[in-house]
Amino acid sequence: MKILVDTHSHTIASAHAYSTVHDYFVQAKDKGMQMFSLTDHGPQMPDSPHPWHFGNRNVIPRIVDNVACLRGIEANIMPPDGDLDVPDGMKPYLDFIIASFHEPVFSPGDMSTNTSAMIHAIKSGGCQIIGHPGNPNYPIDVEEVIRAAKDNNVLLEINNSSFIHSRLGSEPNCIRILELVDRLDWKVVFSSDAHIAYHLGDYTQSIKHAQTLNFPISRVVNRDAATFLAFLSEHNKPVAEELAAWSQQLN
Ligand SMILES: [Zn+2]
Ligand SMILES: [Zn+2]
Repeated sequence: MKILVDTHSHTIASAHAYSTVHDYFVQAKDKGMQMFSLTDHGPQMPDSPHPWHFGNRNVIPRIVDNVACLRGIEANIMPPDGDLDVPDGMKPYLDFIIASFHEPVFSPGDMSTNTSAMIHAIKSGGCQIIGHPGNPNYPIDVEEVIRAAKDNNVLLEINNSSFIHSRLGSEPNCIRILELVDRLDWKVVFSSDAHIAYHLGDYTQSIKHAQTLNFPISRVVNRDAATFLAFLSEHNKPVAEELAAWSQQLN
């Protein structure tokens, strides 16, 4: 199972991450990846970059050494209802949006509170991916979330970092998400959630579990650039058009 796109990484623009955009381009090339995504934290996180960070990323080349770079954000699902912390003025600068629960922004609630906030974010049309839904600090009704995600064409993330670096105890939840996504005929992205470029494209644990479960690669939407861009085009994201010709010559 080879996954050629990474949908989730943090740069030194988030204070607790340690690599530059340049470092990520170099690692992506070395690892034979087609595309990666910069997804620093949304404004409500204590270490979110200044809003200008998101507005000026068009200075970053789209393609370096035949590796493409997407300009995303890891937005916060906010209390009480699950609105996202992405101001309207920022949206035109974002290729796509991940929506996640983070403790400094949303105090973990009971299953019903968490589930309804997450589903509100999914139904809002404001996000394309739900970040680390296996976090044990935020119990959710997984089946209900997957059904809402499928109805709204939002992907669930299997976050490799959740198995090794953060959100301890995520593993059984992530395995269950994979099982239910397969059973309910829906889709995921695999992500590294790299906070340093060396971890970009590291899906070791996610792939191990997927293979044990016979989880088909056809359900992993970031398996290659053309497939992930086709997904973004379903959300009318201009980057899909911008990179369509480039991605089609890769395969
Ligand atoms: Zn996160
Ligand atoms: Zn993250």
